[in-house]
Amino acid sequence: MTTTYTPEALEQLALDAGRDLEDATAEEILTWASKTFGNRWCVTSSMEDAVVAHLASRVQPGIDVVFLDTGYHFPETIGTRDAVAAVYPVNVITLTPRQSVAEQDAEYGPALHDRDPDLCCALRKVAPLGEGLAGYDGWATGLRREDSPERADTPVVAWDSKKGKVKISPIARWTQDQVDAYILEHGVLTNPLLMDGYASIGCAPCTRRVAPGEDARAGRWAGRAKTECGIH
Ligand code: SF4
Repeated sequence: MTTTYTPEALEQLALDAGRDLEDATAEEILTWASKTFGNRWCVTSSMEDAVVAHLASRVQPGIDVVFLDTGYHFPETIGTRDAVAAVYPVNVITLTPRQSVAEQDAEYGPALHDRDPDLCCALRKVAPLGEGLAGYDGWATGLRREDSPERADTPVVAWDSKKGKVKISPIARWTQDQVDAYILEHGVLTNPLLMDGYASIGCAPCTRRVAPGEDARAGRWAGRAKTECGIH
């Protein structure tokens, strides 16, 4: 049976787990999430790779894997989502913004991502994810401390006060070498664009290839004063 928590209890859970699980393995962190939240937690995935979805599916087969289809994804990303849904014992849920790209263009003008990427992300990412996560107490992400300076202090479990949910980052401490080793060991599905010069994959208009040695997230919103979409 799934326990129902008050927001105050969830916050306390997150604080305690963030401290107690700092040195735990990704499997231990996800097992804690499964035991704590039952069916009231999910994995969110950008479909850059399926590492966290794969880890969670081993701990809790049938886990919801939430994918945000902004309408601007590369075809390879949609293909990766479809492959994950077909191959792993997970329940892939696709969230979409309230407006199609055409409807957004009609209201705000074309290429909002070039003129006001914060608004574009708010409409196409932050709002639909907030609505899509409404039925969950916790959500697991693939954030890693190595991703960028902004993510260097990512806790393995934290209270997300903006969403009123427990945010679980089971691979926060993993290095890229650990990610690569896990993918190799388990034959985990990855986005083909990772083999084509892309190191971090988001919406097509806001993602470019990176040069060897360049920071992985340098290809996201390149040339713009923006490093995160607002979800995290
Ligand atoms: Fe819009 Fe770019 Fe944000 Fe995607 S990443 S929602 S295209 S601004």
